[in-house]
Order: sequence, then C-alpha cells, then structure tokens
Amino acid sequence: LFHFKIILGKNGVPVAENFRLEQSTIPDTVQEGQVCVRTLYLSVDPYMRCRMNEDTGSDYLLPWQLSEVADGGGVGVVEESKHNNFAKGDIVTSLNWPWQTVAILDGSLLEKVVPQLVNGRLSYFLGAAGLTGLTALLGIREKGHVTVGANQTMVVSGAAGACGSLAGQIGRLEGCSRVVGIAGTDEKCSILVSEMGFDAAINYKKGNVAQQLRELCPGGVDIYFDNVGGDISDTVISQMNQNSHIILCGQISQYNKDVPYPPPLPPDTEKIQKERNITRERFLVLNYMDKQEASVLQLCQWIQEGKLKVRETVVEGLANIGAAFQSMMNGGNIGKQIVSVSK
Ligand code: NAP
Repeated sequence: LFHFKIILGKNGVPVAENFRLEQSTIPDTVQEGQVCVRTLYLSVDPYMRCRMNEDTGSDYLLPWQLSEVADGGGVGVVEESKHNNFAKGDIVTSLNWPWQTVAILDGSLLEKVVPQLVNGRLSYFLGAAGLTGLTALLGIREKGHVTVGANQTMVVSGAAGACGSLAGQIGRLEGCSRVVGIAGTDEKCSILVSEMGFDAAINYKKGNVAQQLRELCPGGVDIYFDNVGGDISDTVISQMNQNSHIILCGQISQYNKDVPYPPPLPPDTEKIQKERNITRERFLVLNYMDKQEASVLQLCQWIQEGKLKVRETVVEGLANIGAAFQSMMNGGNIGKQIVSVSK
C-alpha cells in the first residue's frame, strides 16, 4: 500500500518549498484499537506557522519535526476499523490528521461526524462546522459582549478569511446592528457586502483606513473581532468606544516576526485601551471545547437555514498543500482554505 506524505524542510518564512512530497508505505495490517483512513480534505491554518518554529510560543502547540510528516485538521473516510467506535464508511475528523493520502491512526485520535449536518459538504467540518466556525461563534459569545437591541457596531479584520467571514455574519445574527469588515482586496470587500451581509468593507491596501472607518462607523466601534493585529488594529482601537471589547482571535500580521503572543500594543494604543477601559483578553477556542457539540449544532442549523454563508478556496492534491499554506498566509484565499486530497 503506497501513500504520499509532506515533510517539513526547514524553519523560516513559509514558502512552498518548506514541504516535500514523498512516497512511502504504511503497515499492511491494522492493529486492535486502530483505524485505517483515507484522507478526503486537509486544512491549512495560520497557527501552523508557529509549528514551523522550534519553539511554537504556545504550550498547546507542538513543533513540527524536520523530515517528519506534518499534521493538522483533516477529514476522511474509514476504510478498515479495529476500534469499536468506528465502522467502514464512517466519516471522521481529527485535529492531528497526518498529511498523508492514507493513514493508520489510533481510534482515540478520531471523532465521528454526521455528514447530513452539512448536507454532505464534508470539508465544512474543517471550517464553518469545525474549529473555524467554533472560533468565530465562541469568540463572539465569550469575549464580544453582544447585546441584542444595544445598537452595537462590530468591526472585523481579516474579514474575508475563514474565521472573519463567519464572525461578521455571526455578529449580526447575535444582535449587532452594524458590521464592517477590513480585508485585502476589492473583490473580497465586495463579496463581504454582497454575499455575507456586511454593511461595508474597507480594502486596507488602498486609501486611508482610519478615515474610511470613521465614515463607516459614525458611532464608533463597540466590538472588534481582531484576526490580524499590527497597524490595522491600532487604527481600529483608536476609534473604539468607552467600555468596548476586543475579541483577540489572532494576530496574523505578526506571525512571521519574533514577538511574544499576544504581541504587546504600541504605547499610544495601549494608553487608549486603558483610558477607554477596552477589554483585550486572550481567546483560545480550545479552552471552550465543552461547548463544542451545542455550538456545532448551532452553526450547522444556520448553514442549513441559509443564514450563514460559507465560502471556500479549494486546492486540489496533497502535492499542493505547501503552496496552499503559503497562499493562505499571503491572502490568496476567500473563506476557508481547503486542500482536497481524494474524492
Ligand atoms: P484566514 O483568515 O482564512 O487566512 C488568513 C488571512 O489573513 C489571509 O487571507 C489574509 O487576508 C490575512 N492576512 C495575512 N497577512 C496579513 C497582514 N499582514 N495583515 C492583514 N491581514 C493579513 O485564516 P483563519 O484560519 O480564518 O485565521 C484567522 C485568524 O484567526 C488568525 O489570526 C488565526 O491565528 C486566528 N485563529 C485563532 C483561533 C483561536 O482559538 N484564537 C482559532 C483559529 C484561528 P487579506 O487578503 O485580507 O490580507
């Protein structure tokens, strides 16, 4: 039995060449407690940038080892099972799926999912009905302080990405009266407004972000879903209201730099944050997994009702996963970046 695997080549700024495709064999027997799976879809995510360092900067993330198979979110189908919880044909996911076409895994690593929940769109279990959707929903519920009827304005950075595109829509569903996105191209901005129900979107690579934000958020910003950090966040924070809230989801603009997480705010921005009593607490979705089941059901219900629009950017083939990761880090994706490995 042959399979392919991607191996990390070196640390540093991510490039497609950090990953190498190799052909190899897997054992020809499945042991008690193990499951043989065929990979359908793999996820590439910003946190993987941290796994390319010897020190990931986080106790919950292990570094990828040089010349070992990389891993991350995956979904696949059971081909053979010697674990009581799984049978041939089951659809399963894991947060530690090896980047292989076929793998023999411990059943304890796997979680069975219900394809009907996503109308058979199995890649959604890596995005809107998986960790990304949970991050958007639980980030807003745990740190956003959205109050129905309070006429709140939410701003989302990284707004056309996997998390951001869902966060803006969920902000509205949870009760925000105005939602404004910030993203890196005109195409992304127009999709946010025409498809995802954002009131407006700003292309941060064009024009004056501060001025556009002032015009688009005349009552100031009450909730800021921050995916990017850096200059964009300094600009948004300078327009936030007294007693407002930052959902500190991620800081992708800082991930290629050697800074602690979360990166400290520049002094002027920190002064504003303190004076206006703006909350900025670290949010990590993995700390709220007790709410996973109910939250996934909520996300799937919204998807089925058409209230949550889902976009994906799909790259075909395991051989292209390194390029897909690099492209996502550079803004090549609209919605969730997915790698389709087999049908
Ligand atoms: P994503 O937003 O789909 O993809 C990354 C996007 O970041 C790119 O499409 C790009 O879009 C933008 N970007 C890249 N460099 C940038 C820069 N220097 N300045 C501004 N924008 C930049 O990725 P995702 O998976 O949804 O993750 C979004 C954020 O959520 C990340 O920060 C991630 O670490 C975080 N996250 C946190 C948790 C948690 O538990 N806290 C869980 C999952 C994800 P543009 O074209 O707009 O530049």
